[in-house]
Amino acid sequence: MVVLGIESTAHTASVGLVDSTARVLGIASDMYRPPAGGIHPREAANHHVEVFPGLVEKALASSGVRPGEIEAVAFSQGPGLGPCLRAGATVARMLSMAWQRPLVPVNHCVAHVEIARVLSGMEDPLLLYASGGNTQVIAYGRGRYRVLGETLDIGIGNFLDKLWIELGGTFPGGPQLEAEAKLGSELLPLPYSVHGMDVAFSGMLTAALALAGRGSSRPDLSYSVEVTAYSMLTEITERALAHRRGEAVVLGGGVACNERLRGMVKAMVEGRGGRTFAPPRNLCVDNGAMIAWTGWLALGAGQTVSVEGSGVEPRQRTDLVATPWRGS
Ligand code: AMP
Ligand code: MG
Repeated sequence: MVVLGIESTAHTASVGLVDSTARVLGIASDMYRPPAGGIHPREAANHHVEVFPGLVEKALASSGVRPGEIEAVAFSQGPGLGPCLRAGATVARMLSMAWQRPLVPVNHCVAHVEIARVLSGMEDPLLLYASGGNTQVIAYGRGRYRVLGETLDIGIGNFLDKLWIELGGTFPGGPQLEAEAKLGSELLPLPYSVHGMDVAFSGMLTAALALAGRGSSRPDLSYSVEVTAYSMLTEITERALAHRRGEAVVLGGGVACNERLRGMVKAMVEGRGGRTFAPPRNLCVDNGAMIAWTGWLALGAGQTVSVEGSGVEPRQRTDLVATPWRGS
């Protein structure tokens, strides 16, 4: 049997099909790319509404799964952009009604942890979640996933995208900035904003743009921004690891595709005698398969909702979501 997962928290509309052993049978995704500037929630939602029917068909056709094999329909309930979440939830409700299968709400951040946990085989890892809108260090404790540290202003990915666009590039900036950083060599001074367990990026954005205005090269700026920002993330991850006396770290989110970040976290964790794991790219970025897999866990714990009770929660906090499958 199979759970179908719907992801639509931000720019990515995605449908995933996963069986009860966490085997990913199919993923079909389509990312909204704004013609200029950043993401506009309503335009992204319109994009999702247009592409979802085709994505459902594509995921089913490419995997050979028949609707009769679908056990439940899971969807990202939050956190995310309201209009985008509603687009995905509407599709999930329709499929649940058409196939007469239960509807399972899933927290997006918990889904990043769960897919990395099952793929890595690690029992109780810490997650460094570095994506467009989110930057958090998450760990399980006392019956909930807890956010141990996070950004105080913008998500790391949004920061990289915004900087890259201001420097004349296009969205998404992270991967292009990664390529440009490989050409840089001079480490320029930028604000290193770590506040206890938290980080902040807007000061670095202002400072980097000021340096660009004074003639610093784009390769050197990209290199310096990567080294500084990823050092900040590595530092708070190390502090969380030391506090928990843990030794396993998994990575998630689009920015976790970055080789420099992966390398820095790996070096830190291995230096402490631990292990790291990053899912393959298609399961690291936002995707329907992680929602489907977490849907299986939630379904096993009886977490289904009625269509009437399936409202989205744009500000849903990770640590307010019950995860009974993890015990207490
Ligand atoms: P997500 O929100 O998890 O889907 O991830 C999207 C974000 O990841 C965007 O902000 C991208 O710029 C960023 N991103 C994707 N690949 C990379 C990369 N290789 N290095 C840095 N950032 C990346
Ligand atoms: Mg995400």
